[in-house]
Amino acid sequence: MSIPPGTAYMDGDFVPMAEAKISVLDWGFLHSDATYDVAHVWRGRFFRLDAHVDRFMASAARIHLLLPVDRAELIRILAECVVRSGHDDAYVEMILTRGVSPTFSRDPRDAVNRLICFAIPFGWILRPEDRDKGLSVAISEIQRIPPESVDPRVKNYHWLDFVMGLYDAYGRGAGSVILQDASGSLTEGPGFNVFAVKTGTIATPDHGVLEGITRRSAIEIAADLGIPVEKRALPVEEARTADEVFATSTAGGIMPITRIDGVSVGKGKTGPITRRLIDAYWDRHSDPAWSVGVREILAP
Ligand SMILES: *Cc1c(COP(=O)(O)O)cnc(C)c1O
Repeated sequence: MSIPPGTAYMDGDFVPMAEAKISVLDWGFLHSDATYDVAHVWRGRFFRLDAHVDRFMASAARIHLLLPVDRAELIRILAECVVRSGHDDAYVEMILTRGVSPTFSRDPRDAVNRLICFAIPFGWILRPEDRDKGLSVAISEIQRIPPESVDPRVKNYHWLDFVMGLYDAYGRGAGSVILQDASGSLTEGPGFNVFAVKTGTIATPDHGVLEGITRRSAIEIAADLGIPVEKRALPVEEARTADEVFATSTAGGIMPITRIDGVSVGKGKTGPITRRLIDAYWDRHSDPAWSVGVREILAP
């Protein structure tokens, strides 16, 4: 089996990616009982690592998972995975699963929580060479799991709504999907948040979504550029008639959505506000306020 090259940390050891395996009895595998986070390294620098680690630790606490290492040790492990992987541009994931219960009991409190970290090559939802073309998405009738059931602010692997939505989208000739909520407002897509721009104002859903770090970056950059941002419900019809729509994710940054259900958004290409945000987003990757060198972490 071929898998992306990289380095993982598991049960106290650093191992090649191909050797990073979990028990089939791990609750993370059996019940999607886990939380995770994904940070990235660009040209040897972690981007907003503190924000990712904060979110990961908050997610773990919210679902009664205990991190077996402290914050400083976690950061050191992540940096070590990157250095050992040899990747300058990396996708860096940290996972905390409920783990295995030694007696296979039904009580989650018996399970021994397990931390897994890994660094593999940076991955794109939309590759830079396809950026002008943008993403073509379908808006599925499938509803996002409601926040009353699974808190979407805890980054999680409850993805069957997204995966079924993707099949729905592929069947309709689109490349990805956005799910709606019970009231017909947009929520998010498989691993990305959504924004719509109308007459110079940006809007993004404020409810029922993961509070993405790239979402936060887009909002802060917009504020710095003097572009107003509203966090509120985003009705499906509003997105269809927007001037620009874009997605945000650690896996690719800020990405134009140029088609919704086969119809062009605005002029059908990357809009001017999306363009300004993309440029500023990548510029900030060398800004010490937003990034830290991987080797600085290991040898301060
Ligand atoms: C990870 C993720 C996002 C994007 O968050 P970033 O921190 O920007 O990568 C959005 N929605 C869901 C469901 C996600 O899992």
